[in-house]
Parts: sequence; structure tokens; C-alpha cells
Amino acid sequence: MECVFCKIIEGIIPSEKVYEDENCVIIKDIEPIAPIHYLMIPKKHYAYLEEASVSEAMELSFMLNKIGQLKDELGLGNGYRLIINQGDDAGQTVKHLHIHILAGKKLNWEV
Ligand code: AMP
Ligand code: ZN
Repeated sequence: MECVFCKIIEGIIPSEKVYEDENCVIIKDIEPIAPIHYLMIPKKHYAYLEEASVSEAMELSFMLNKIGQLKDELGLGNGYRLIINQGDDAGQTVKHLHIHILAGKKLNWEV
């Protein structure tokens, strides 16, 4: 198994987990770019949105809904930004789909 996020899900690599259910985990990003920077990671390995099966795509929409439900618990109450990097131009370094959750300050908007 080469994938760092699969290893995190298996518990082979340690992580700071803030949430877990049958479909996903939310961990703290090891190199945060905002005061709050989490990664929501589906437990099933796929790299790109178009690779998701119908059930994985449905799980992804439930995952987004879950972020909203957890927002106070996770300190996102003043607002948060979700980012999914896809491919090299977006800077995707881990080829296991994940949702960045950024919060904790007024976020600027630059590309
Ligand atoms: P991306 O560039 O969208 O593929 O994002 C990958 C993210 O994973 C980066 O923000 C990294 O800081 C983060 N990351 C890589 N390895 C780990 C790890 N072992 N624990 C937590 N976050 C990690
Ligand atoms: Zn993986």
C-alpha cells in the first residue's frame, strides 16, 4: 500500500483524528495553511471525482452535509472554505481524494 491516506485510515501512519464514521475520517492537516485546516478523507481509495462509483458519489454528498452538521464542534461557526485539489495544476500531491476544510480567520481569495 503506497497511499499515505490509506495508511492513515488503516492506522499505520498516526494522525490527529477529529471525526470518524463508516465512510470517512477528518484529520488535522500536518502542514496547516490556516488556523484551522482539516482534511476530510473518504475511506475508499480513489484519486479523482470521476472515478467515484455511484455509491461513492452519494457518500461524498453525505460527507459534505456532515461538515455542515459538525461546523460548531469543529470550530467552523464563523465560516469555512472547502477545497478539492484535482490534478497537477491544482497542486494535488496525494492521489487519494480529500476535502480541505479551511477556517479560523477571514480567508483571502487568491489563485
Ligand atoms: P493536496 O495538495 O490537495 O493533495 O493535499 C494534501 C495535503 O495532505 C497537504 O495539505 C499535506 O499537508 C497533507 N498531508 C500529507 N501527509 C499528511 C499526513 N501524514 N498527515 C496529515 N496531513 C498530511
Ligand atoms: Zn488511498
